[in-house]
Amino acid sequence: MFQARFSFLFKRTVVSTGLLPWWEERITPWPRVIFYHYVGSAQPPFLRETALRKERFLEQISALRRRYRFLTWREYKEALVSPREATRSILLTFDDGFQSSWATAKQLAEDHQIPSLFFVNTRVLDNAYSPWTIQYYFLRSEANGRFLEPLWKSISKGVPLTPAVARKRCHESFSLRDVVEPIEEGLARFGMTPAELAARYQLYVASADISKRNDLIEIGNHSHSHYILSKLTDAELDNDLRCSHEILKGLLGESPEAFAYPFGVPETHFDERCLRSLQAISAYPYIFSATDSALSIPMPNGKDRVCLDNIGTRDVVGTVAKVTPRTLKNWLLQ
Ligand SMILES: [Zn+2]
Repeated sequence: MFQARFSFLFKRTVVSTGLLPWWEERITPWPRVIFYHYVGSAQPPFLRETALRKERFLEQISALRRRYRFLTWREYKEALVSPREATRSILLTFDDGFQSSWATAKQLAEDHQIPSLFFVNTRVLDNAYSPWTIQYYFLRSEANGRFLEPLWKSISKGVPLTPAVARKRCHESFSLRDVVEPIEEGLARFGMTPAELAARYQLYVASADISKRNDLIEIGNHSHSHYILSKLTDAELDNDLRCSHEILKGLLGESPEAFAYPFGVPETHFDERCLRSLQAISAYPYIFSATDSALSIPMPNGKDRVCLDNIGTRDVVGTVAKVTPRTLKNWLLQ
């Protein structure tokens, strides 16, 4: 708590005292990669906590645009080769394939020529599926958790868990049998399939939109079903990754180059075994995490990303410039 407060004040101080240009020049590891999940104005009630209102998102984008340059996918790849020339440049990315984020990315590309990289789970395309986390949020919020009994039976001897504990437990004991199937059973008891849930709220982008996208939007792979890849068996892992790759290749007419793994913590959610499995299917030279510290597993061009879903507009520039006491400490020690 104290540490978070200190980091917050540190960021505000660096930005307000005019130290930011110096920091950006010397310390920030450019290019920076930012990411968002659900961006939209009419978010479904069960996604309220994770969704970012479109107005706030656009405020953030204008604040960033006044200071930084948004890279196209091609420019980003060049920037990785010559980071010295990439000062003050960022790659904008979206995760999870939400229709409303897609509409926003499209609008940015068409009206403002702002490029982005859009990561999709191929199973959700055309509202054919909702991943287990979305089903869980829905059951938790819409049905007061009443239909989560099969999950509690599977992971906590029938005892209902608080959201924080449930999340931790689901991640620890993740498997298709112990977590995904009980959640789907709960949804079935509620009287809905994962596809009906997606369709009811028009959650996901259409595959036709992906095929006829604006040139400024690059498509990346976020796996097929949004499982915790490191917890799958070899056969499940290969099946999930192969499926998403083949579908994207079909829609794009070429192999995608970028892969962002679900949940995004190196080692915990994606490890050497997952990387080998992925690269046995296709080269995937660009791997993205969802954490803002150096990737701890050796990956070719592995890149960390900073999530801006919950950052106030005033702090967005300092966050992207990676103004934190820890970054300063690492820089001083290097
Ligand atoms: Zn995701």
